[in-house]
Amino acid sequence: MPRVGVLALQGDVHEHVTRLQEIHADVVLVRRAHDLEDLDGLVLPGGESTTIAHLLNTSGLRSALEDKLREGLSVFGTCAGLILLCRDVLDGRHDQWSYGVIDVAVRRNGYGRQIASFEASIDVPGTGTVPGVFIRSPKIERCGVEVEILATHDHGDGPDPVLVRQGNAWGCSFHPELTGDPRIHQLFVNSL
Ligand code: GLN
Repeated sequence: MPRVGVLALQGDVHEHVTRLQEIHADVVLVRRAHDLEDLDGLVLPGGESTTIAHLLNTSGLRSALEDKLREGLSVFGTCAGLILLCRDVLDGRHDQWSYGVIDVAVRRNGYGRQIASFEASIDVPGTGTVPGVFIRSPKIERCGVEVEILATHDHGDGPDPVLVRQGNAWGCSFHPELTGDPRIHQLFVNSL
């Protein structure tokens, strides 16, 4: 059973835990640096990226996680989690930082505010069509050459990548944890 951590500082932690348990992962809540030991993979949940970033600083996890990412720990960031993993944050807070392990530029709230939240069917080649819930989601506006685009969504202005991967780092602009469909989690866990 792969041992998968869920960063449990803020956001929809419980929903990720449920999805991962449905696919029989051994789930660990990560709140302190020592919780990062012996993980096969780590999920960074959706929530509020500035709050999670602040709590990464105050918990002492920021640099411990940076070390693990440098060592190649597999990681999957959804929504705010993607913002934390990306190279460039557009419309970020002036002091917003990110780990930069996925060479994409994301615009915070790029699909609009809370009131503009929507659900779309996302075709993931090789996996099928999955429901995608977008809530104040980041929009991927630039993708580096090393980034693999696993799924796109056309919100009326051309297709944007919504599920990407660069090596062991995966990012998703929507919330696969909020529907009862664990296939996106399964994709990540299968890679561990
Ligand atoms: N817009 C939020 C942020 O900047 C992310 C929203 C989400 O995770 N649903 O962190």
